[in-house]
Amino acid sequence: MKKEWYHSLTKMIESQYAPRWNTIIGDRITEADYENVKSFETELYTKREFLDSKPKESILDYVGNLRFYSNFFYERLKGLSIRHDFERIPRMTRDDLQNKMTQILPPTHPLDRIIVNPTSGTTGKPILAPNHPFAIGCYVPMIEYSLLKYNVKVSHDFQTTAAIQLCHQNKTIVYATTHSLAGGAKFAKINWKDQDWRELDHKEKFLYEQAPTFLSGDPYAFEEAMKSGLNYKPKALHSTALELEESLRISLATHFQCPVINFYSLNETGPIAYACPLNPEWLHILPHDIFVETLDEYEQPSSFGEIVITGGRNPFLPLLRYATGDFGELNFSLCTCGEKTPRLKLLKGRKPIYFTDVSGKKINPVDISRILRMDPNVLRHQFIQKKNGTYEMNLSFLNSPSQIEVENLETQFQELLGKTAEVKIKDNLPNDQRKISIFINENLEK
Ligand SMILES: [Zn+2]
Repeated sequence: MKKEWYHSLTKMIESQYAPRWNTIIGDRITEADYENVKSFETELYTKREFLDSKPKESILDYVGNLRFYSNFFYERLKGLSIRHDFERIPRMTRDDLQNKMTQILPPTHPLDRIIVNPTSGTTGKPILAPNHPFAIGCYVPMIEYSLLKYNVKVSHDFQTTAAIQLCHQNKTIVYATTHSLAGGAKFAKINWKDQDWRELDHKEKFLYEQAPTFLSGDPYAFEEAMKSGLNYKPKALHSTALELEESLRISLATHFQCPVINFYSLNETGPIAYACPLNPEWLHILPHDIFVETLDEYEQPSSFGEIVITGGRNPFLPLLRYATGDFGELNFSLCTCGEKTPRLKLLKGRKPIYFTDVSGKKINPVDISRILRMDPNVLRHQFIQKKNGTYEMNLSFLNSPSQIEVENLETQFQELLGKTAEVKIKDNLPNDQRKISIFINENLEK
């Protein structure tokens, strides 16, 4: 980090309005990573014509060659021609990521560069998605590309704050950093929950003082900030992690007087698509180095179906028809905005959902996933808030849980939901590969 960057960052960290920081984070970008991200960025802007329902040669070469390095790729491609039999390659599933990671991982990259960030989304099943600083660094040009499509330019200047990420969770990491890929511009992640701040009015004062170009976060956090009356007007809201309902998008855009850019990105895959500025219900495929398919229930390519990704740039997690568990519609016709990449319309699933504790206060599903993720014995979960006010959790355990383990989980959920909360924990979650609703709030259903 350059000296002047450090001083600028220190000012932010020591602001009288700053939240209670709890983590220190750097981008771990080496000079070689920097150059690689810059090459990626050039290609991202120049290789923008792929309105084709067949994978590109470069992507086929990339995954085809991995059979020499990765046992998983070797097994999956055995007896198949990557070009002629692509549609016969079995899907890579979330279970594969959970159980076969060591076979997937090509042993050609030094492991000291690995970053492991268990997914903390509302996906129900904790997945270890190993990542590389280079692949994470590529998020910067991709996010900036999507912002540019909405005429928002992030200035690469160490004195500016490029973005502040808003969260609304009971517990999360809160930090400030600079990003070498954005010329030392500052980034921070803050939690909108009151307990993270010394004074309640500091939240808004901090945003005004730091004046981030855009706010990132999930629709849930934006909704909370809007409801709490946040007046700060960023140039854009960059919404990720959850499906953005059209009605919420419109009310956020009206309140914050800026575009709300829906960004579809998964930990395992990196960014996939961004919302078209002219037809925001459609998301354009963003990176040039992934191939996106939608497969029907018979695992055949279809205009509707499960979203499946091949390729990518993460050396620790190359994707071979990775089934995301999300569903969508794929469209290859030319869009009026001029972007010559296929468009996705996300269907159901990953809907913003919330729960309430015994006193009626909102609880973010991410907090539920977080508690369950701490218990390595829990593989998947389904959490239901019942109409009668009780809570039910259907879990899939690795080993049959002990009484103590179950009681421990109960206690933690009572800390989250209220001492009098009735929490039923069952070890009966089906595992037949069908998509189940992970979060159900019966009180929200019509
Ligand atoms: Zn478009």
